[in-house]
Amino acid sequence: MFASLRTRLWLTYFVLIAVILSVIGLSLFFYLIRNPVLYRANVEHLRISLAAITVRMDLFDTFPERQVQRIVDREDQVLKVRVQILRADGTVLVDSRQGNAPALAQLQPPLKPQNEVQNQPLFTSDDSGTIWLYRLGQLNDQYFVRVAIPRPRAALFGVLRDEFVLLVLRTGGIALLLALILGILMARWIAAPLQRMAVETHRVATGNFQDIPLEGPREVQELAQAFNQMTHRVQASQQSQRDFVANVSHELKTPLTSIQGFAQAILDGTASTPETLQQAATVISNEAARMYRLVLDLLTLARLDAGTENLQREPLDLAALLREVTDKLAPQARQSGVEIQLELQPLSMISGDADRLAQVFTNLVENGLKYTPAGGQVMLSASQANGVAEVVISDTGPGISAEEQSRVFERFYQADKSRRGGSGRGAGLGLAIARELILAQGGTIELFSVPGKGSKFVVKIPTDRL
Ligand code: ADP
Repeated sequence: MFASLRTRLWLTYFVLIAVILSVIGLSLFFYLIRNPVLYRANVEHLRISLAAITVRMDLFDTFPERQVQRIVDREDQVLKVRVQILRADGTVLVDSRQGNAPALAQLQPPLKPQNEVQNQPLFTSDDSGTIWLYRLGQLNDQYFVRVAIPRPRAALFGVLRDEFVLLVLRTGGIALLLALILGILMARWIAAPLQRMAVETHRVATGNFQDIPLEGPREVQELAQAFNQMTHRVQASQQSQRDFVANVSHELKTPLTSIQGFAQAILDGTASTPETLQQAATVISNEAARMYRLVLDLLTLARLDAGTENLQREPLDLAALLREVTDKLAPQARQSGVEIQLELQPLSMISGDADRLAQVFTNLVENGLKYTPAGGQVMLSASQANGVAEVVISDTGPGISAEEQSRVFERFYQADKSRRGGSGRGAGLGLAIARELILAQGGTIELFSVPGKGSKFVVKIPTDRL
């Protein structure tokens, strides 16, 4: 019933006003109950009666006790007040209503008679619980006189009924009605932008990726802004998934077409001589190997993305690892007429996955060899400072332009398509995998390059993660 924000807001206003009204009503009620104005006539009556009795009983000590009783009874009949003569310890000597009304609570000594100007009513109760208003005077050193009347209930309730209840009901009713109307209006005012946003988000959820307009209160605008950002990311992610599928299909299509073509040539006899058969089998084998490499790369990336690639964390000698990589690629370097240089400064042991790091550095050096023209150089250097091992692989190749530098680590990105071809060509996954592997081991990889002057890849790995 109170599921919607609007109803809840409205209810909040309503409850708030009701609580405020009740508090005001209650404080008014208590004010009225304690208000001396309500009992002014009674207090006055008590005061005059007390004054009269005190004067008339001036010579009280000389009266015999029976006469005292008669006097107080007469005063009671004339003045319509209960008259008590009290001893100094608060006990009753005579009471005009002795036997006719329940006894009044005894006053505790020392008794303090009220002076003339005091018109605050005093309250006491009798044995039956009835509340009495009273006033205390002094006859002489030993005796006091108390006059009392029952608290006039009718007066209190009359005032409450005539003035208070009506007032509260009227103003309360008007205030509640106003609160109701204002509450509905304000609840609408606050909830409307959110409702509009809900409609907009539904639209986006059905695939209509348009930005939600930034309007309404600041919080709603911020929500809309965050939602728009999320939409952009979802769109980008969907696009990259589409690109990924397209790229994989494309990369698989080329070798498959070759394999199919050469297999067909063998089948229909076009390739029949030993040389052509040999050539067809070589192409089929190379393309199958290329597809195999591609699938392995994709599996590695998928495992890195899912966080399931089991990277070892064993102490390893980075210098030895780099030497191995250089030795392994030396024949390839000789073949392409590029010189490999290795320059190692003292390195401490680091913790990491030796095979995966070797894969990264092999890929970076291979790229250098692949893109550097004959006569050029590929340099591999390593140093260590402040708990970080830094491996730099630089070449004297063509370099990579500024806008391509930010993209070479993307999956399937190949900066210069014209260089593609040959059995050694990659699919643009090498640097993407290298980056993921280095990040997974807590390191970083950066590229610095000036077109025409070569490229420099800098890999940093923390050494204190042993
Ligand atoms: P590939 O398998 O195609 O080499 P990579 O991810 O290793 O894929 O590299 C992505 C692209 O970055 C390459 O296609 C190439 O254009 C560019 N690139 C990488 N290394 C170098 C380099 N040392 N010099 C020039 N271009 C490079």
